[in-house]
Amino acid sequence: MKQFEYVRPASVAEAVAAAARPGAAYLAAGTNLLDLMKGGVSRPDRLVDITHLDGLDRIERLADGSLRIGALVSNADLAHDAEFARCYPAVAEALLSGASAQLRNAATVGGNLLQRTRCAYFYDTASRCNKREAGSGCDARGGENRTHAVLGWSESCIATHPSDFCVPLVALDAIVEIEGRAGRREIALDDLHRLPGETPARETALEPGDLIVAVRLPPAAREFAAHARYLKVRERTSYAFAVVSAAAALRIENGRIRDVRLALGGVAARPWRARAAEDLLKGATPAKDVFREAARRALADAKPSGDNAFKIELARRIVVRALTLAAAGTPARIPALPASPLASTSGAIHA
Ligand SMILES: Cc1cc2nc3c(=O)[nH]c(=O)nc-3n(C[C@H](O)[C@H](O)[C@H](O)COP(=O)(O)OP(=O)(O)OC[C@H]3O[C@@H](n4cnc5c(N)ncnc54)[C@H](O)[C@@H]3O)c2cc1C
Ligand code: SF4
Repeated sequence: MKQFEYVRPASVAEAVAAAARPGAAYLAAGTNLLDLMKGGVSRPDRLVDITHLDGLDRIERLADGSLRIGALVSNADLAHDAEFARCYPAVAEALLSGASAQLRNAATVGGNLLQRTRCAYFYDTASRCNKREAGSGCDARGGENRTHAVLGWSESCIATHPSDFCVPLVALDAIVEIEGRAGRREIALDDLHRLPGETPARETALEPGDLIVAVRLPPAAREFAAHARYLKVRERTSYAFAVVSAAAALRIENGRIRDVRLALGGVAARPWRARAAEDLLKGATPAKDVFREAARRALADAKPSGDNAFKIELARRIVVRALTLAAAGTPARIPALPASPLASTSGAIHA
């Protein structure tokens, strides 16, 4: 294993200064980063341990109705916060559908946002991978690629972003608070992850030293609580990444959709907001035919990047089902491990 320096800064400012050096990486729970280091995929010279930093492990309700979630809050603590699950049920459902109970107990909010792709060739240092080694090629092209991207991919990289959590967060217009060398700034989560283009190694809008300190859900995000779902199709019911997922959130008044949010996971290098589909749904009466048309719009630009044409039709069906379930209403109790959306879940529409 490559030798590296380990530092434990005492404050956010010290952490940013320590991580601004080339070759440095932040260490949160390490459930992704340490695996990558053990496999020789990530080779930082310096690990900046942020796990003990004060103030990053809080969930705060702000005066304007926003919710501020510290970057070190664990995925489990957030999902099991009763008030959080009541106000943002699709986000809690997404968190609970990720990884395993043990991993969720450790994994942090910031780490989840910045986890790396699960493309098998990225993890295999004997393979060519433009994301791991710029300009080396992409063995996923023409290789095992049935779970790869169908939207926003390029000839350089066809990998997907694996986070469940990010999908409803993007749908709900979450904001990321960042502490960097020039001080504090914030960006929409929708702008955090980049599409690969010709530079797939550049995955986010973050600069060296940038530390995610919190994620904020704006006041409007609570307005969807009565009609919000996250649906994930995976190759087994638990402990597996999404093949395709969808977050759907509706605000229904007098039988019509007054507002709607829709995002897809497992289809692109970033969580994929389906704005054209949202535009169609606004003002419509919830019904299967309009949901089908929305799904068609959401996947209008999709194209297979290999052996994965099936994902396009699968994604359309998951969009229809997520919208149908959201329209039917948020269940009173979110299952700890959501069953497969292809199993018997209620799909009746109560407009
Ligand atoms: C077997 C397995 C199954 C999994 N299944 C799923 C799944 O189904 N769905 C899903 O969504 N996830 C899944 N995960 C991924 C898991 O959710 C992530 O590993 C976890 O969320 C990462 O959080 P962490 O705190 O451990 O991050 P770390 O591993 O510590 O860090 C991950 C990356 O984020 C950076 N980082 C961490 N915190 C910050 C910060 N505050 N600011 C800036 N950079 C930061 C690190 O430098 C590193 O690059 C799975 C993981 C495993 C191992
Ligand atoms: S798809 Fe992207 S991550 Fe996977 S091998 Fe190709 S360049 Fe690497």
